[in-house]
Amino acid sequence: MTTTAHTAAGVDEGTAPDILAIARDQVVDGGRGLDRDQVLEVLRLPDDRLTELLQVAHDTRLRWCGPEVEVEGIISLKTGGCPEDCHFCSQSGLFASPVRSAWIDIPSLVEAAKQTAKTGATEFCIVAAVRGPDKRLMSQVAAGIEAIRNEVDIQIACSLGMLTADQVDELAAMGVHRYNHNLETARSHFPNVVTTHTWEERWETLRMVGEAGMEVCCGGILGMGETLEQRAEFAADLAALDPDEVPLNFLNPRPGTPFGDLDVLPAAEALKAVAAFRLALPRTILRFAGGREITLGDLGAEQGILGGINAVIVGNYLTTLGRPAETDLDLLDGLQMPIKVLNDTI
Ligand code: SF4
Repeated sequence: MTTTAHTAAGVDEGTAPDILAIARDQVVDGGRGLDRDQVLEVLRLPDDRLTELLQVAHDTRLRWCGPEVEVEGIISLKTGGCPEDCHFCSQSGLFASPVRSAWIDIPSLVEAAKQTAKTGATEFCIVAAVRGPDKRLMSQVAAGIEAIRNEVDIQIACSLGMLTADQVDELAAMGVHRYNHNLETARSHFPNVVTTHTWEERWETLRMVGEAGMEVCCGGILGMGETLEQRAEFAADLAALDPDEVPLNFLNPRPGTPFGDLDVLPAAEALKAVAAFRLALPRTILRFAGGREITLGDLGAEQGILGGINAVIVGNYLTTLGRPAETDLDLLDGLQMPIKVLNDTI
């Protein structure tokens, strides 16, 4: 005889517990993220449960992060010519890719920060395509931050590759609010993506950044040939790191790179992944970064923002065109999602 008594997860005994019922109980109500095996179950859900999954992810985000959406702008201080071989990246100098090494000057940097602030963004991230900063880059960053501070009211983030302990201290002393360094993918898949440095080297930079008191921003790229198991492993890796922000990118295969011929992630799979990462990381700022236009099309932003995302990058991405800032800001307005204001984030 089977019993119909309900468990805490709201499922009948004698049947396999449903992962979304578990997620409602554990994540939405309890605030405890899904573990690796649970994330894998979510990633394996059939497409006809996608709407239900997005709703659970959206409820998680509203409950533990609130309705605000954080807006960020990014600028590339130094583009192209990087000595590393990240197989997705058109800024590597090792591939037949079109991005040449180039620097922007300080007045252009300040102008970009001003334009970013005008969109309502609270965070302005200075990015350089390097393995790690040298003396010249550190002094450019210091000069840039000082010039921005004198004219623009915005928090400054940096993404300058792997850091030494001294460089971490220098950036903290400059008042850098958040540091971005992506683990990119699961530890077990990383050697298939990058051979010129290790996942552990990246992890070490992130550890030092967090210890120095800067906010940690760490995400990666989905759709680089990883298995669903490795995608779940990556979500668990990030949950262990517990970053303040996770930017999620979808591979936009760039001609000339080793991953130039990979297929674009199907939209349903991409949305499932976004929701699964939200359920693994209930409190983090989960940001749509690059590649979403080709993966998700026009509807993607709306479904993502109603499926766990609570931050967007406005304007151009680093090497490929994103959507115009106004498109994203109009969308947030239409969805009645307030933009997080600067005073709330200090
Ligand atoms: S991802 Fe960063 S480190 Fe890797 S090749 Fe591109 S710019 Fe260089």
